[in-house]
Amino acid sequence: MKILLHICCAPCSIYPIKILRSNRLNVMGFFYRHNIHPYRECVKRLETLTVYAKSINLQVIDQKGYDLENFIRSVVFRESNRCIYCYNERLRSTALVAKHGNFDYFSTTLLYSKFQQHDMIKSIGDSISRSVGIPFYYHDFRAGWKEGVEESKRLGMYRQQYCGCIYSEKERYYKKR
Ligand code: SF4
Repeated sequence: MKILLHICCAPCSIYPIKILRSNRLNVMGFFYRHNIHPYRECVKRLETLTVYAKSINLQVIDQKGYDLENFIRSVVFRESNRCIYCYNERLRSTALVAKHGNFDYFSTTLLYSKFQQHDMIKSIGDSISRSVGIPFYYHDFRAGWKEGVEESKRLGMYRQQYCGCIYSEKERYYKKR
């Protein structure tokens, strides 16, 4: 059985790929770009993933383009709810590619992060599964959080300090004076 796994970054992919492969699934990755800002950060995350994917013999579909403008337009004036839009876009894109490529499932490494809104991601995945017509593979990968972090450090991987969008970068670094 084939699964298309949306990968937000290499460190978050380590544990989910291990679990999916141990469940005898043939995993292919999908890297989505539009929510990762600024552009050089996006390239850095992709390069890290590319090196890691090669080392574990994982094929990755790299989304073309970099539509930062549309991302910003889509969340402006509702920035506090932007993650709903972001999850939807990433999961829908993954599901459509998976459907087109005759995969059996789609899933996401977002289910690994303890900093993401896990229940919302599951709910959006289920909903997109029904509308696109391809099963969403749900697994609570958070159980392997520590293991994945340790392995990424052992491998000397680049580990980003914020989620992805420019708003999350501000939340991470801006200190009110
Ligand atoms: S904080 Fe993360 S999940 Fe939320 S909109 Fe920004 S990149 Fe997307």
